[in-house]
Amino acid sequence: MSENTTTTTTAPTENLRERALKLDAADPLAGRRALFALDDGVYLDGNSLGALPVHVPARVQDVLTRQWGELRIRSWDESGWWTAPERIGDRIAPLVGAAAGQIVVGDSTSVNVFKAVVAAVRIAGEGRDEILVDATTFPTDGYIASAAARLTGHRIVPVAPADVLAALGPRTAAVLLNHVDYRSGRLHDLPGLTAAVHAAGAVAVWDLCHSAGALPVGLDEHGVDLAVGCTYKYLNGGPGSPAYLYVAERHQAVFDSPLPGWNSHADPFGMTAGYAPADGSVRGRVGTPDIVSMLTLEAALDVWDGVSVDAVRAKSLALTDFFLECVEAYVPAGRVVSVAPAAHAERGSQVALRCAEAEPVMRRLIERGVVGDLRRPDVLRFGFTPLYVGFADAERAARILADVLAEVPAGNTVG
Ligand SMILES: *Cc1c(COP(=O)(O)O)cnc(C)c1O
Repeated sequence: MSENTTTTTTAPTENLRERALKLDAADPLAGRRALFALDDGVYLDGNSLGALPVHVPARVQDVLTRQWGELRIRSWDESGWWTAPERIGDRIAPLVGAAAGQIVVGDSTSVNVFKAVVAAVRIAGEGRDEILVDATTFPTDGYIASAAARLTGHRIVPVAPADVLAALGPRTAAVLLNHVDYRSGRLHDLPGLTAAVHAAGAVAVWDLCHSAGALPVGLDEHGVDLAVGCTYKYLNGGPGSPAYLYVAERHQAVFDSPLPGWNSHADPFGMTAGYAPADGSVRGRVGTPDIVSMLTLEAALDVWDGVSVDAVRAKSLALTDFFLECVEAYVPAGRVVSVAPAAHAERGSQVALRCAEAEPVMRRLIERGVVGDLRRPDVLRFGFTPLYVGFADAERAARILADVLAEVPAGNTVG
């Protein structure tokens, strides 16, 4: 478990440490870490709140002091405030495999789930009265989909992702699914499920909160209809940074927003009494954008310049494999059980470990600088953000986990 108790000739700790250093030295993304404000701990919670890129505060300072402080209202034009939602949407687009003009940034993920689900059932048309929702979803998606169903006269059908195929039918209007499960880190088959939803004549809505910025999504390639995602996880946009909404170009003309605020009007400054929707992704807007958060996000997206999502994915899989290998080598059998899918095709960019003593274990990990999070009651969740987590971090996290488990006896679920 640690160097001094190892009596075999293989000395797993030394071997794994050495391998970590070699893997870091060969990592094409290793240089990105310096772009982030990090301390010498191991930050494994970038899937909840991405780290701050170091150049961002100065850019936000400029937004406040010059754009707002000096230019004041002129900034809506001169600093590009008014068009920021579409401009930043186009920056996110390549990260999720979308051509320009289909993503708009604004509002929270929850609000965008509402827009997308209502718009989806309207696209599906009459005669289909069911909305299928991932029963294991992040709760907000389920709450919002239920409210959308109630408002539109549809019935919610909660289904485990594995049962979606069997539940699809002529009554299905829309299907809301998570690309990666926030708890287990399971990656769902977006191409296959989208094709099946289409074969049933229904509309596919994907939540990309835990996949965008961690792995390729391929929205256009796989014919996704609508998608939403947040920007404060793997995209490092900052606390509460605005979410985004993707509406495939072929649906834009029939995208009928349930929140048709003046920002989505064809002539917002005409201030007319009647509503006429704008063309294109603008139609997904609602009210005045939260400019400070939005421009914080825009600055943060610079860290993606020159990064290929395939390289991010390759590193993510190597990192999670390596972490699992270190856990296996260091942690006594039976104390933790990985719920991360073993198959790469089913794994997101996080490792969830079931542990009866999860609560005291995570508290002690955080005290020692290994920051993951707890998903009650018994899941230790570790997010691996390939832009700033390295292999030595993964090895250290597993080693400290083993040390902490040695201090927290099995069965101690509170202390
Ligand atoms: C993080 C997350 C959200 C967050 O929703 P907000 O409205 O931004 O608070 C929603 N859905 C999923 C699947 C998430 O992982």
